[in-house]
Amino acid sequence: MISLMPNHTPTNAGLLARSLSAVWHPCSQMKHYENLPLVPIARGAGVWLYDFDGNRYLDAVSSWWVNLFGHGNPRINAALRDQLDTLEHVMLAGFTHEPVVRLSERLRDLAPAGLGHCFYGSDGASATEIALKMSAHYWRNSGKPGKTHFISLQNSYHGETLGALSVTDVALFRDAYGALIAQQATVPTPDWRAAEPGESAQDFALRCAEALEAHLQQHHETIAAFIVEPLVQGAAGMAMYHPVYLQRARELCSQYGVHLIADEIAVGMGRSGTLFACEQANISPDFLLLSKGITGGYLPLSLVMATNDIYRAFYADETARGFLHSHSYTGNPLACRAALATLDIFAQDDVLNANRTKAAFLNGIAQPLRDHPKVRNFRNTGMIWAFEVDTPHKDFARRCFALALQNELLLRPIGNTIYFMPPYVIAEEEMQLLVTRTLNIVETLT
Ligand SMILES: *Cc1c(COP(=O)(O)O)cnc(C)c1O
Repeated sequence: MISLMPNHTPTNAGLLARSLSAVWHPCSQMKHYENLPLVPIARGAGVWLYDFDGNRYLDAVSSWWVNLFGHGNPRINAALRDQLDTLEHVMLAGFTHEPVVRLSERLRDLAPAGLGHCFYGSDGASATEIALKMSAHYWRNSGKPGKTHFISLQNSYHGETLGALSVTDVALFRDAYGALIAQQATVPTPDWRAAEPGESAQDFALRCAEALEAHLQQHHETIAAFIVEPLVQGAAGMAMYHPVYLQRARELCSQYGVHLIADEIAVGMGRSGTLFACEQANISPDFLLLSKGITGGYLPLSLVMATNDIYRAFYADETARGFLHSHSYTGNPLACRAALATLDIFAQDDVLNANRTKAAFLNGIAQPLRDHPKVRNFRNTGMIWAFEVDTPHKDFARRCFALALQNELLLRPIGNTIYFMPPYVIAEEEMQLLVTRTLNIVETLT
């Protein structure tokens, strides 16, 4: 019998060529792949990714910040297999299912107080869209239809759909679409790298909070919400700031009748050192956004947690007062099951404590990096590390990415900023390998 199937036995070279011909890769100038390696991955196990030639790469960025407990995690795999044999999907309008109910209840118990209602989406940008729409709709339902503007921090990142881009302050992602994006104001970022010499991170954060206050004082009547990445602005290059800023932001938003949206898509799920970054400022936002690590890096899922006050403003006889936003895969059972398995691991393995030990170990062995004459602003929050590299290379990020691959590392610098955001299952010898090889890379590129 003649097989009509083409030969699909993959090889590195074969898959690379086919991918470049058929796949339009994200966050990429496709022409750069003429020189930049595109890496076909055959399988993953723990912190390691393997290509078809037997090379391995330590996933030091958790595959774009999503993976928490390693690739091919046996417990998440088992939960998904079980769910697959039970219910793969059902629509969530007019129907419900156990995984989505259990996940909503557990998050309500774990999250900062008052966030009793979970609304589901499929990716981070959708969670941002949902929160912005919900906030403005809340004010409309509450007799304040003029509150339709949003503010965000300088260098903020909240996703790349058109609404999310309106509160994303990254010129490279925005500029081509300027005409399509609503203009929203930004307020100064408390990123401590911008502090005056001698000024503490805390004092600088308080100074930035004064600028926020001045802005709110003047514009609160037209502002629906302030959206913020708590403690770490990820896409800005892991900009870190003092939690006192969040405390002041919470007070000011309450004082001026503006919602506080905590975008914990990147920093939530233990990444900041606590389960939610807001805990470190001891605040409850009006909306809390989760995605990325929520499924352990397995499946797309996002959610917006909202307060009872928000929820009640939509609860009425008229359909139009309800929140009619919908996505086809809202609350997908498989994704919710992966999220439940992820929360189980947090509880069973005392992950937050274990991460504290790991972070202390990495900080210890990273001393030579911290002390390197070409390394600036070495910083750490929870399971995130970052530093700037003084380099003569204008295309540092791409060179570093390529050199890292030769050193069995997946690093994806943001400009001149190298960052580590490893899966939490990283072992001590893997941290040692990560630090030693990164030091070699810094030596080579400076
Ligand atoms: C990644 C990210 C988003 C967008 O999530 P996507 O799933 O990529 O759309 C939004 N906010 C923050 C803080 C993020 O890091």
